[in-house]
Amino acid sequence: MSEEKKSLNFIEQIIEEDLKNGLPQDKLRFRFPPEPNGYLHIGHAKSICLNFGLGEKYNAPVNLRFDDTNPAAEEQEFVDAIKHDIEWLGFKWDKELYASNYFDQLYEWARKLIKEGKAYVDEQSQEEINKQKGTPTEPGIESPYRNRPVEESLDLLERMRKGEFEEGAMVLRAKIDMKSPNMHMRDPIMYRILHKHHHRTGDKWAIYPMYDWTHGQSDYLEQISHSLCTLEFLPHRELYDWFLDQVIEKGKLRPKQREFARLNLSYTVMSKRKLAQLVEEGYVKGWDDPRMPTISGLRRRGYTPESIKNFSDRIGVAKRDNIIDVALLEFSVRDHLNKIAPRRMAVLDPVKLIIDNYPEGKTEYLKSENNPEDEDAGYREIPFSKELYIERDDFKEEANRKFFRLTLGKEVRLKNAYIIKGESVVKDENGNIIEIHATYDPLSKSGSGTPESKRKVKGTLHWVSAQHSVPAEIRIYDRLFLDEAPDGHKGRDFREFINPDSLHIDRKARLEPSLAEARPGERFQFTRLGYFVVDKDSKPDNLVFNRTITLRDTWAKKNK
Ligand code: ATP
Ligand code: MG
Repeated sequence: MSEEKKSLNFIEQIIEEDLKNGLPQDKLRFRFPPEPNGYLHIGHAKSICLNFGLGEKYNAPVNLRFDDTNPAAEEQEFVDAIKHDIEWLGFKWDKELYASNYFDQLYEWARKLIKEGKAYVDEQSQEEINKQKGTPTEPGIESPYRNRPVEESLDLLERMRKGEFEEGAMVLRAKIDMKSPNMHMRDPIMYRILHKHHHRTGDKWAIYPMYDWTHGQSDYLEQISHSLCTLEFLPHRELYDWFLDQVIEKGKLRPKQREFARLNLSYTVMSKRKLAQLVEEGYVKGWDDPRMPTISGLRRRGYTPESIKNFSDRIGVAKRDNIIDVALLEFSVRDHLNKIAPRRMAVLDPVKLIIDNYPEGKTEYLKSENNPEDEDAGYREIPFSKELYIERDDFKEEANRKFFRLTLGKEVRLKNAYIIKGESVVKDENGNIIEIHATYDPLSKSGSGTPESKRKVKGTLHWVSAQHSVPAEIRIYDRLFLDEAPDGHKGRDFREFINPDSLHIDRKARLEPSLAEARPGERFQFTRLGYFVVDKDSKPDNLVFNRTITLRDTWAKKNK
């Protein structure tokens, strides 16, 4: 086997095998099939990267198919959000399709099945049907309606469709095998009555097809070659194939369902239902809250499309379920932002620093590199003056030898500026430091080439010029859950593990003036602090930043 062959994931191996066995490459076609009942999350991103990644690799089309068989309110909002998220990730679908496009065809096929004695209308309650299902080791019981005349089933189905019956009054079931060891084969439901308005078909239908009856037939109609889904659908595969057998015509491609492990992330929940609960019950401020594992939340948090795609590549395609450490996702965004994010100076918890021997009223503009990782990023000029702000915890009146920041009588460098020495402090009546006084060495300017500028000092601090700096609101996020597997505790609700302290809002920060121009979505590294993104709430006169992630690289360290 060549190196390349060996590194194929198991889905690619299946495809290569199919190609080898005569499937023409131009018949390859994939799909991403979201249900528009919520926003996409990082798990969906995994599936998107897999399907669209295969599309790119094999130069094959990928359909975006909305699985809209369960009518609910506000679905259009979700459709729009889903499209936006996929585009933002940088993928292009071939056709935008809806399972509801196929309602007429599915209905015709259902009639065909009834006529062939392979489906029937069952008038028992759901409860009754459940009771007859049996268990994996005991066969089920056949419904008393199972062998009713074809004409009766056809008539009832037609009247179900028109809305003549109450919800729950009856269902259409496939007639397969109540003794099958596979529970999904025990006369599965194909249609149920739902008197609900559908976001696309309006009030045309009072019956809606079930997932199993819809999905494979949609794949077939679109001639999808490989229909990839998560592992919990493995037991559905037999039914997927049975339904296909009933409709497939000669000369048509037969779609293949294959299953991969869903992505689970530590310290989060990942079902849309649970995420919807977090939104509806006000634990977060919306689907795009920066603490949410949704694509929109990650985007607002400052994640880049590349970081999400790299993450997806790093975890690969697995055959077994497992939990991925959320630190790997954080590592991916840190790694990418390190390469692309312009560096800026910001002081989150400011204390005044006065340079006693610096001329009153003078401003110098100091040249600063935008990004040492990126030569093309260029330079900017930062104003320096007599009164500055530095971080409160970058100063101690007295400190031991391990404290490399500012203290009285010792020298540190101000980044891109001068070496200064702490001289004295001014305190308020409560003993809090309100001013630090220092002196600077005029010959020590960074990059000036003087012997003084090359002098080694232990610490370098970030700073902003007080009069030039701009205020900002900074939002600092922590994990939304305190437990590694919030939905993995039997008998306990995932909401019990919510971190009550996952958001800190700070309004003291002062930023270098160039940041006054920053627009929502722009990402920066604040020197020594981490990566930050301008929030959508930000206005030129009321800047708001989200902290994306700290600088510290815990994941890489742990895994070295
Ligand atoms: P949820 O349980 O979160 O609502 P879902 O599977 O019901 O997820 P769909 O909109 O039906 O959501 O999923 C669209 C596609 O995304 C499906 O092919 C599904 O298998 C895939 N998908 C959903 N969640 C994950 C996940 N955690 N990891 C990988 N793929 C996923
Ligand atoms: Mg689903």
